Amino acid sequence: MSDIDLFILFLEMSCFSKDEARTISYYFFNNYSKSMSEFVREHLLSKCKTDSLSATLLKFSKAYDDLNIRNKIKSVVDVNHHELIKGDLHIHTNWSDGNNSIEEMVEKANQLGYKYISITDHSLVNKGRIEMNPQKFLMQLEKISEIQRFYEIRIIKGIEVDVNENGSLDYPNEVIKMADLVIGSIHFDYGKGDIKSLELLNQLLNNEYVDIIGHPLNKIGQKSFLKNLDKIISVAEKNAKVLEINLSPDRIIESEFLVKYLGSSNIMFSFGTDSHTRKQMELINISNLWIDKINKESILNTYEDPLKLIKKKMDKNSR
Ligand SMILES: [Zn+2]
Ligand SMILES: [Zn+2]
Repeated sequence: MSDIDLFILFLEMSCFSKDEARTISYYFFNNYSKSMSEFVREHLLSKCKTDSLSATLLKFSKAYDDLNIRNKIKSVVDVNHHELIKGDLHIHTNWSDGNNSIEEMVEKANQLGYKYISITDHSLVNKGRIEMNPQKFLMQLEKISEIQRFYEIRIIKGIEVDVNENGSLDYPNEVIKMADLVIGSIHFDYGKGDIKSLELLNQLLNNEYVDIIGHPLNKIGQKSFLKNLDKIISVAEKNAKVLEINLSPDRIIESEFLVKYLGSSNIMFSFGTDSHTRKQMELINISNLWIDKINKESILNTYEDPLKLIKKKMDKNSR
């Protein structure tokens, strides 16, 4: 893939149609000498419909500006994902801050030949900006059951739940229990940095309701993570927690680090595109960077029924 194609792809994955993206790229490559992120800030951010899309466009443009990351993405993003990958386990819809409906994401999953898709919208994201309160989540569960009747592909009822400053999850346990699959994620360090985030990671690894830790390095520096590596590996193995290899372009360095230092452990991993638009689901191809570096049996997405595996591991460890 060329720089121009990737530039267009990133625009399409966030705020623009293919035609718009082509026109914008023509202008960028012929008249603009600054970086993509500067260009985006100066000309494009205000054109995105939602804050979430603007944020995505900016993150992706920063990934584009980093030559190392750009080359990695270019080498795999148009290469079909491995046939062993049966589904995407991290997807947002317009029930939280995603741009497309559940149906639109499911249609795309069908096009990608998946056996399942896991809808994992944000919970409260407890910074005052409520994404999906518990009542809305319960409505979403009903909606998914309704939609499921029209599709053969399995729609997994998931949630991406945040961890509060005190280590609890930001949905009540009785609500979390309703989800088939729970991604626990750290999105905030509560202004307290590395040490706090490591403590929150430890809380997630020990929380009986959490199945997958989303983007496990978020808010944690590589040095701090490495210092605690043995402990993290042993707790994750003991509690049968799955660690996510997040496929968002802005997280490539994080994910590469995880594969490098944990890829040969006995930990289970899951691939998730963390898509907020339909087009972003094509980021599953980024898994090509790492799929041959991890034992296939340690990748949740290679199983026909990932939930069964999570359940089995739980029983085995009698949690
Ligand atoms: Zn997240
Ligand atoms: Zn997410």
